[in-house]
Amino acid sequence: SPEPVDDAPTGGLSKRRGRPGRPLVVMKDVNKHFGDLHVLREINLTIHEGEVVVVIGPSGSGKSTLCRTINRLETVESGTITIDGQPLPEEGKGLAKLRAEVGMVFQSFNLFAHKTILENVTLGPIKVRNTKKSQAESRAKELLERVGVAHQAAKYPAQLSGGQQQRVAIARSLAMEPKVMLFDEPTSALDPEMINEVLDVMIDLADGGMTMVVVTHEMGFARRAADRVVFMADGEIVEQAEPEEFFTNPQSNRAKDFLGKIL
Ligand code: ADP
Ligand code: MG
Repeated sequence: SPEPVDDAPTGGLSKRRGRPGRPLVVMKDVNKHFGDLHVLREINLTIHEGEVVVVIGPSGSGKSTLCRTINRLETVESGTITIDGQPLPEEGKGLAKLRAEVGMVFQSFNLFAHKTILENVTLGPIKVRNTKKSQAESRAKELLERVGVAHQAAKYPAQLSGGQQQRVAIARSLAMEPKVMLFDEPTSALDPEMINEVLDVMIDLADGGMTMVVVTHEMGFARRAADRVVFMADGEIVEQAEPEEFFTNPQSNRAKDFLGKIL
């Protein structure tokens, strides 16, 4: 098959790696409608290994739908999506494996309410990855340590703050050893004082070389962590650039208008 067209204006360069990684997520000519609404229009997007891509744009522009197509929570009508060279699986076992490889953290923390924090993190590896319980638990403890909630392992989600729950949700995704992590407005449901504790974990992940797609309005995070900002409006990728370039010198009127409202 032909080499994927590299659409990234930054050439897929990662700040941390200092060199472009191989294409990990490749979306080619992707289209999707919800009824009459053309929610994704000819999306061409390549995410390289180790790259951190921040997706911004007005509400309703298709950012969540874009993320959801990457782990096949939404199907597409035309175009192709590949992860590490493999087309997205249609169903069954392949889909469970895909969901493990493509971690996703949502605005709402959606932990399993009736499982402890430790169980929330061990469940996936035991069920999907066939990891031994003892091994899953020791790995889960490491991850909970990494996101700063190790001392909460025996508690239930409702006993934790929103910021702590979101950090557990991140640990739960990481336990599956994903190739790429998707974050869809992970801090927008949090009280302001808890936003940074979650962003700090994400910055730590980025610095560790994780490939990340992050939908967020946190421009400080974008400036600090992103290799590339992708601006969406009305289902289209309107422009993309390195954060400093995008924020100081947006090209399109739609991006100028959007930045004028949020900055
Ligand atoms: P964003 O995340 O940028 O706010 P979304 O991807 O959530 O945008 O939504 C894009 C558009 O698609 C919005 O107009 C939204 O109302 C619509 N939409 C999203 N999900 C569905 C759905 N399941 N059925 C119908 N319309 C939807
Ligand atoms: Mg959204």
